[in-house]
Amino acid sequence: MTNGRDMIPQKQIDRRIQEFVEACRAQGIKTTNQRMEILQELARSEQHPDAESLFLGVRKRLPSLSLDTVYRTLRLFEERGIITRVGSIKERARFDANTKRHHHFICTQCGLISDFYSETLDRLKPPSEVEAVGTTDTVYIELRGICNACQAQKRAQS
Ligand SMILES: [Zn+2]
Ligand SMILES: [Zn+2]
Repeated sequence: MTNGRDMIPQKQIDRRIQEFVEACRAQGIKTTNQRMEILQELARSEQHPDAESLFLGVRKRLPSLSLDTVYRTLRLFEERGIITRVGSIKERARFDANTKRHHHFICTQCGLISDFYSETLDRLKPPSEVEAVGTTDTVYIELRGICNACQAQKRAQS
């Protein structure tokens, strides 16, 4: 499992941005300066940020940007399948720039959402019981628990 607080290599950020641009083109979405700044801010983060923290980051470069624009832009990208929204313990929606197949570990204490990769989980077939509910196109696993940093903090306190 990768530590969600690690820095992402520039090459990977560039690849993510390139994929976003291609996806926008394929979908006929204009890659305006504002939209690109928001996507770049998201691509740079491994933290699955919410709209407000993206807004605070982008506003440093685009002071005229409004939080409402960030919400609308994220919603557009999400509707077109360019980014994904992540279920979170705290009710605020968080967004994911990682377009590679992955799963999440969520810390119920600090809200950390960390990506991890598992071929075993990728191979999981949806159980037949789910057919009564609908047709599955992706199996995505969300694990919840206490992250190592929170555990270390707890140990230090006791
Ligand atoms: Zn934690
Ligand atoms: Zn993720």
